[in-house]
Amino acid sequence: MPETKYVYDFAEGNKDLKDLLGGKGANLAEMTNLGLPVPPGFTITTEACTVFLETGSTPSSLDDEVTTHLDALESARGKRLGDPDDPLLVSVRSGAKFSMPGMMETVLNVGLNDRSVEGLARQADNERFAWDSYRRLIQMFGKTVQHIEGEAFEDALDEVKRAKDTDNDLDLDADDLRKVVDAYKGIVREHTGADFPQDPREQLTAAINAVFNSWNSDRAVLYRRQERIPGDLGTAVSVVAMVFGNLGMDSGTGVAFTRDPGTGEQGVYGDYLQNAQGEDVVAGIRNTVPLQDLEKLDKTSYDRLMEIMATLEGHYKDLCDIEFTVEAGQLWMLQTRVGKRTAAAAFRIASQLVDEGVIDLDEAVQRVTGEQLVQLMFPQFDTTAKVHQLGRGMSASPGAAVGKAVFDSYTAVKWSRSGEKVILVRRETNPDDLNGMIAAQGILTSRGGKTSHAAVVARGMGKTCVCGAEELQVNTKRRYLTAPDGTEVHEGDVISVDGTTGRVYLGEVPVVDSPVVSYFEGVVEEQDDLVQAVHRIMTHADSTRRMGVRANADTAEDAERARRFGAEGIGLCRTEHMFLGERRQHVERLILAEDDEQRDQALEALLPLQRWDFLQLLTAMDGLPTTIRLLDPPLHEFLPNITELSVRVALAESRGEKNENDLRLMQAVHRLHEANPMLGLRGVRLGLVVPGLFDLQVRAIAEAAAQLLKLGKDPKPEIMIPLVGSVQELEIIQADAKKVLAEVAEQTGEELSILIGTMIELPRAALTADQIAEAAQFFSFGTNDLTQTTWGFSRDDVEAAFFSTYLEVGIFGVSPFETIDVDGVGELVRIGTEKGRATRPDLKVGVCGEHGGDPDSVHFFNEVGLDYVSCSPFRVPVARLEAARATVSQEGGSDSR
Ligand code: ADP
Ligand code: MG
Ligand code: MG
Repeated sequence: MPETKYVYDFAEGNKDLKDLLGGKGANLAEMTNLGLPVPPGFTITTEACTVFLETGSTPSSLDDEVTTHLDALESARGKRLGDPDDPLLVSVRSGAKFSMPGMMETVLNVGLNDRSVEGLARQADNERFAWDSYRRLIQMFGKTVQHIEGEAFEDALDEVKRAKDTDNDLDLDADDLRKVVDAYKGIVREHTGADFPQDPREQLTAAINAVFNSWNSDRAVLYRRQERIPGDLGTAVSVVAMVFGNLGMDSGTGVAFTRDPGTGEQGVYGDYLQNAQGEDVVAGIRNTVPLQDLEKLDKTSYDRLMEIMATLEGHYKDLCDIEFTVEAGQLWMLQTRVGKRTAAAAFRIASQLVDEGVIDLDEAVQRVTGEQLVQLMFPQFDTTAKVHQLGRGMSASPGAAVGKAVFDSYTAVKWSRSGEKVILVRRETNPDDLNGMIAAQGILTSRGGKTSHAAVVARGMGKTCVCGAEELQVNTKRRYLTAPDGTEVHEGDVISVDGTTGRVYLGEVPVVDSPVVSYFEGVVEEQDDLVQAVHRIMTHADSTRRMGVRANADTAEDAERARRFGAEGIGLCRTEHMFLGERRQHVERLILAEDDEQRDQALEALLPLQRWDFLQLLTAMDGLPTTIRLLDPPLHEFLPNITELSVRVALAESRGEKNENDLRLMQAVHRLHEANPMLGLRGVRLGLVVPGLFDLQVRAIAEAAAQLLKLGKDPKPEIMIPLVGSVQELEIIQADAKKVLAEVAEQTGEELSILIGTMIELPRAALTADQIAEAAQFFSFGTNDLTQTTWGFSRDDVEAAFFSTYLEVGIFGVSPFETIDVDGVGELVRIGTEKGRATRPDLKVGVCGEHGGDPDSVHFFNEVGLDYVSCSPFRVPVARLEAARATVSQEGGSDSR
């Protein structure tokens, strides 16, 4: 068997080998092959890393392979690694398949030692440069390979600067830097008990292994978890001949983007730092200059850079970011990749690239995501306002919230009841904070990550949340927080929380409506280029997607908004809210009815109210299918709270009074009490057990439809029976419903064609879908309940209890309530669809759980062949876009998300 190849020269790789060479290595190879000025080098594969991480040592053949490639590198440069007279130096760089900015390690100037530093100084005729390079090596090597606290080195450097009375590293001369090197070597000796390693090859090997190890550093692990990057990919290691930006003022180093990654505006964008090496630019040790200034400093290099950036954009057909170095007037490319960008930039750039003829509209749809669209739809802080930033945490749930800081949930609820807007500030939240979170405009915590209780719950509620703002000291007992700059925020002080960026501000930052929402709402004020880009991409998305998109909406108002947002129907209208408020009394009468007559009276009282509800809804959705789900929740949800009721009864008793109705209600509450309401008397079971209840709803729907038909309208109601597990349940309800429909048709003289279908939300329903389809005229997967019943847990009980643990240990990559669990719940959706269509080939199948608006889930539903997804009105544009992206990627093969 041929041995696995673990090392690739830059000339051997290309940009499609990211799995093997990491993004950095693959793109360095790509640039090399494009003929761009890349210093020579080679990449050790992620496979070598995986072996190293699994077994604790590198593959046995690796050393020889590295030697072979190092030899080639030495001949290319005409120098030997660490040669005392004229040393070749290399950088040892991390780089995984997915970019993990700053999470792993890189060591520069490998090959320098006490002798070669002199040789380098002579060759470059620049002592300062040589000693600067050497001190950088010891510092990076010490930190990365020997795990010495970076502070030790920084302190030593500061001390030499202080002696020189300067805080600019450029004021240090060769002698100063010699002193720094001496100090650094002392630190190494002190921490490791040995001298800084002088053997260049030993340095190289140790650096390579350290980069492998940095894959599993705490911060890298944390970052991967947050970005959902698999933990077993490993990093590649690129070994690159050093080029020097610290040779003098005709040298320097910089970073650049081919377009503005913040706004998407055309034109280059970047920073440059003279006489500096690599990390200095981002470390902010000195002030950088705008890239444009390079034109004045070194026109030749600048022009060449512009030319190269144009080449890269043309080649990658997208915004690229790059790292470069100028060594004594000679430009070198050190890195490129398709750059990250803000949501607004993503839409603008995709549209620009279409204008420029670089990509087509199908590709433009692939270049943006539903999540980015969501970001654009939240109200935003006016960034032109003057602000005082208190600190920054993680962007847990987007949005812009302003309110008075409160430090406990009780106060949050109390103040919000009296009309105050509040921000709930906690160290971390727990399930007891739920009411406070609901009452608050936004939530801010100083602890916990994106999967903390606060983050999970806030996202579920669509509430703005910043979590893990560790730099803010939160004192909940004394009700204040302290920012790093010493500012204190006490209970009642106004703060502004930006869930999109994670920033927290003092005072009220003005909020502006998202122009994108105004566009969807049809209130187009000013056609800015962002709105135009969104319009263009959404228009193409609608003409491309295979699946329909409907909305979950319970009221006419929601339905109208959903329609404006592009919904092509209602996939789920819940009817339970129609029995709350004033109407509770009728439901109570229904529950307490002692005979048929009393029951019928209660139902009769409800009929006109229900009819009115449906009249409004069907009017709003005129001409579009409107799926109405018959009553689903257990009846006790309509009864008064047991504690309140008990108190009322006890108080009355203590006064020697007796309220008969309350006593009967008490009995009913006890009678209807369920240990597991989620698995109790609800859905179709209610319809079978409470005579007349479903008939009432069916009649109201039919009468509303008939009334609208008379007015020349086009109502399209569909009746949906929840929680069916067996076809018999459905058959009984359906027979009754058909009778009612026939009666209403007869009475009104209108021809009613109203489909009767079912939700598939129990595993049994999915598994017997072939039988159920004998009766059901359509299916709609209720993936919330299907997830609960498939996993056997109730969302309310488990989410706060153990989801964060499950996410941490990796049982979930993401909550199954957020993204469909493809292997389990998804499989039931697949089976249910196939079996249903085996019986009834033209069976219309949709989904109406929250997953209908989740990008990954939408892609899955498209693949399974569902006819439509239904989601909350605000998510409709997301579903439209993702459905189109799913269609394009299915047809085009690759999914470029
Ligand atoms: P990161 O992934 O954190 O950006 P890099 O591997 O890109 O780490 O390297 C850190 C810095 O060192 C970058 O600014 C890079 O441009 C610079 N650098 C890396 N290799 C070389 C080299 N061979 N010559 C000069 N500078 C280099
Ligand atoms: Mg880099
Ligand atoms: Mg359900």
